[in-house]
Amino acid sequence: MTCPDKARRQFLAIGAGAAACLTIAPGVLLFTPAHSRSPAEPVTGKVRWGLLIDTNKCTTDCEACVAACNEENGLSGKVTETAAQWIRKIDLKDSRTGRRVSLPMMCQHCAEPPCVDVCPTGASFKRADGIVLVDKHICIGCRYCMMACPYKARSLVHENLTDQKPDVPRGKGTVESCTLCVHRVDRGETPACVEACGAAGHGAIVFGDLNDPMSEIAKRIAQYQTTQVRADFGLNTGVRYQGL
Ligand code: SF4
Ligand code: SF4
Repeated sequence: MTCPDKARRQFLAIGAGAAACLTIAPGVLLFTPAHSRSPAEPVTGKVRWGLLIDTNKCTTDCEACVAACNEENGLSGKVTETAAQWIRKIDLKDSRTGRRVSLPMMCQHCAEPPCVDVCPTGASFKRADGIVLVDKHICIGCRYCMMACPYKARSLVHENLTDQKPDVPRGKGTVESCTLCVHRVDRGETPACVEACGAAGHGAIVFGDLNDPMSEIAKRIAQYQTTQVRADFGLNTGVRYQGL
C-alpha cells in the first residue's frame, strides 16, 4: 500500500518537469469542457491552463468564488492577518470616471514566476502545463516566495490543521497559494471558483487552455481586449482580465 505522503510526492514529481497603475495590496454558463486530457495521461507542456475573468460580470456583493475556494481546499474562511485566503476580492474605483470594478485575485500562475526563482529548495515549482505549486514536503517555510510574489498571492500556514481535505493536503509551517484546483483539473473538472461563479449566475470566470486556439478562453482573448494585472512586470500571467 502506498503511503499518502509518498503518493503525494510522486504526484508532485510527475508535474515538476513541468490595468495600469492598479494597487494590489490591502450569461452563458462558462462550464466549457475543461479539457480532453484523461487523468491517466501525463502532464504536458502542449497545454497551458489559465483563467479569464470578466470584471463586467463580477459584482462587488458576490463572494461565491471565495466561499467555493475555501470549501474546496479546506481553508477556514477567516479574514485575519494570518489566515490563508487563496482568492480575494479587490474593489477598485477609477478616480476619473467613478467606475467601480470588483476584481477576484489569486495566484496568477505566472509563466516566469519569481516565486520559483527565489525558492532555495525547489519546493516552489511550475508544472509543464503552467500550474504553479508548492511541494509542501520540501518547503522549509522561509517565505522568500511570499516576498517575491508581486500579487501577494501566497501565505504561510500558521494554524494547526484538522479535518483536512484528502485531495488538498496542507502543512503547518509551509507556504501555499491557489493551485488552480489542480486536483480537479487532473480529473478533467473545472476549478471550484469557476463552477461557483457560474452557479451564482455570473459566469465571470472562464477556465481553459490558453494554447488551444479553439478553446473558449483563447477565442475570447483573441476577440476582446484583455489584460494582465501589472503586465509591466513581464511575468506572462496565466490569469487574464477583461473589462479593466
Ligand atoms: Fe508565483 Fe505570485 Fe506569480 Fe503565483 S502570482 S506564480 S505565487 S509570483
Ligand atoms: Fe481557489 Fe481553485 Fe479558484 Fe484557485 S482555482 S482561486 S484554488 S477555487
